[in-house]
Amino acid sequence: MSTGIYVHVPFCPTRCGYCDFNAYAGLDGLKPRYVTALLREVELAAPGWDDQDVVSVFLGGGTPTTLDAADLKALLAHLGDRFAVAPGAEVTVEANPDTVDEAKLAALRDAGYGRLSMGAQSFDRTVLSSLERIHDPDSVHRAFAAARAAGYENVNLDLIYGADGEGLDSWERTLLETVALQPEHVSAYALTIEPATPLGRKVASGAVPAPDPDLQADMFATACAVLCDAGYGHYEVSNWAKPGYECRHNLGYWERRPYLGLGAGAHSYRQDRRWWNVRPPEEYLRRVGSGELPVGGQERLEPADAYLEEVFLRLRILEGIPASWVEPGRAEPFLESGLLELDHDALVPTERGMLLLNELVLALAG
Ligand code: SF4
Repeated sequence: MSTGIYVHVPFCPTRCGYCDFNAYAGLDGLKPRYVTALLREVELAAPGWDDQDVVSVFLGGGTPTTLDAADLKALLAHLGDRFAVAPGAEVTVEANPDTVDEAKLAALRDAGYGRLSMGAQSFDRTVLSSLERIHDPDSVHRAFAAARAAGYENVNLDLIYGADGEGLDSWERTLLETVALQPEHVSAYALTIEPATPLGRKVASGAVPAPDPDLQADMFATACAVLCDAGYGHYEVSNWAKPGYECRHNLGYWERRPYLGLGAGAHSYRQDRRWWNVRPPEEYLRRVGSGELPVGGQERLEPADAYLEEVFLRLRILEGIPASWVEPGRAEPFLESGLLELDHDALVPTERGMLLLNELVLALAG
């Protein structure tokens, strides 16, 4: 069975105000023990996965490139020793622009990290500062050039739209600067406000306005137009790629293939069972240090939930669902209102429908 491995690195130079990932600034002192714990967790977890072909590895965070290239190399080598990592597997490392230079990127590429995913977010200084990112647009240009010079031929740029101070013009300029760089892959996410973040508290107190959903819908339409005009295929609601550069690892999540998560807070999935590691890095270190798998919780998907999830994911990757899955009469109002279209025998969301996926899933399959 094709499997993906996700490795979580929870360290960041600073914490961005909108972030609700399992990421921490100021824990750099834990890095050596964390790397040791990851190697140990690989040992603990591998025996249950020896019948799986690993077709993708993804180092995410946090900011994995805050670790030394030598540690990242050792980690990938250890994964290769303990798991059946397929020749030609897609191996991605996430990076923030200010944590990489050409020498580091060349070392990562030599170590086997063949795909680079960079958190660009915006090419507008005001927007980057509103997101409390520490880099500026020049850093993205510099890091992107360094990636090309280091030999990277498969680079993703992550973008976020809808932050305070961003208008449609600014977003369009960000998209145009992005396509001018010609990355192989672009992810563009609407900013969402998580209540337990500093930005969430500012929005709750009225200090910062919440993103305007109508403006974000227009921004999504602009992204679709600019990226499609530039030759990127839209293959998931928030993801576009040049032909053949779709992210295999993320497709594994959306196609409900098994994946193993390693590191603090990482999630795993296999045969309708989902489980996750403890989130706090110190607790993760303690659990792995005492020779246990650091599992913090688990759930089993009931068939009805698994079905809803399958419908949601098939709509999300624009594969759609067979019309025969839907009770007569349920899809017609959405076909008429232009939220769904019929592609051969599959019901597929239109651009407008992609913005209302939850509602579509409940209406079709709930
Ligand atoms: S760099 Fe990414 S993971 Fe780190 S704090 Fe910022 S948004 Fe969160």
